[in-house]
Amino acid sequence: HKATSSSSSSPSTATLVNYTEDRVINLDHGDPTMYTRYWQQAGDKSTIVIPGWQSVSYFSDIGNLCWFLEPEFAKQVLRLHQIVGNAVTRDRHIVVGTGSTQLFQAVLYALCPQDAIEPISVVSAAPYYSSYPAITDCVKSNLYKWAGDARSFSKGGPYIELVTSPNNPDGYSRQAVVNRTGGLLVHDLAYYWPQYTPITSPADHDIMLFTISKSIGHAGMRIGWAVVKDPEIAKKMVKYIELSTIGVSKDSQVRAAKVLEVVSDSYECTKSVEETLFDFSYRKMNERWTPLREAVEQSGLFSLPEFSPDFCKFSGRLFKPQPVMHLHTCMVRCAAFAWLKCEEPIEDCEAFLREHKILTRSGRHFGVSPEYVRISMLDRDENIDLFIERLSKIGLEQPI
Ligand code: PMP
Repeated sequence: HKATSSSSSSPSTATLVNYTEDRVINLDHGDPTMYTRYWQQAGDKSTIVIPGWQSVSYFSDIGNLCWFLEPEFAKQVLRLHQIVGNAVTRDRHIVVGTGSTQLFQAVLYALCPQDAIEPISVVSAAPYYSSYPAITDCVKSNLYKWAGDARSFSKGGPYIELVTSPNNPDGYSRQAVVNRTGGLLVHDLAYYWPQYTPITSPADHDIMLFTISKSIGHAGMRIGWAVVKDPEIAKKMVKYIELSTIGVSKDSQVRAAKVLEVVSDSYECTKSVEETLFDFSYRKMNERWTPLREAVEQSGLFSLPEFSPDFCKFSGRLFKPQPVMHLHTCMVRCAAFAWLKCEEPIEDCEAFLREHKILTRSGRHFGVSPEYVRISMLDRDENIDLFIERLSKIGLEQPI
């Protein structure tokens, strides 16, 4: 835009080259814009029309524990979990939230007794998702308090441990680390989808959080869901959402139901031969990770987590007339973020990359050292391509 709007005639090649070289690449946020292309290609299948008279009532399903849950959204959530095999949903309650961000807050409220003498400690193993401490302490609640890295947590009594698997920022699979009596576990499974990690078995935990943002890309819909075993916990979560926003946008739930339906249809409809969402996104992630690893190796300045291949039980092939599925039963993990470590003598990786006009998020925000940065791998092609190209040149030009 900058290159074309600055002159009335078409930009010269030199202007464009300069513009590309100067351009700041912002990979700080995990904005999943990579998925836009898939949904553009999918065309009108996911288009819905909402008449003006719809969504007048606050209520969606008054007989349901979660009275603001749109039945069609719940149906499509259960259907997709069934197809992918990434979560046990039988005899569980689905609670919808305004993103899994709201559900996380609802869980904290639901797990903490109102009459506790002191706030319950909330922990997660470092490097942890940078929003956890900020959200936990934002209203300085008397119910709960951020207590940092789960690995060094030694306080007695009840606590809440957040287990993010695969983990944001580093992409590794995780299990609880504190393992003491009085511990309450919340599993944030935002990335437990086959484009990011092999689906080895259906997750079966008391409280599991999922989000539309990272599963199929529509972060702007602001829709997440929790799969909850204990009805009393689910009720309290519903209470929190009632108090904070009196439910969750029906229009968003209806749209979410439609896009989820399109994804599931592409696996179950035997006539369909077009690329499915998880094919598309796994292929894209792979096409990004391969040159990124090459650039990192060649630079000698950085390193990345190593993942060993594993068996993915999800394979769309089962549902297809011919083997058009590119997801392999044995797959390499393609994490949503590159957790990059700068090697010596670089101490502040974020500052170092900023000098090269690459914006990332420092390890400091994730409870570890500034030698690390988190880089979103979910951005648009042009940003990721330019980032990898720029990174591959850093090693060559750096006089160390
Ligand atoms: N949990 C994790 C681990 C995340 O990475 C994110 C998004 N960055 C969220 C929760 C929040 O997702 P949502 O858009 O549904 O609020």
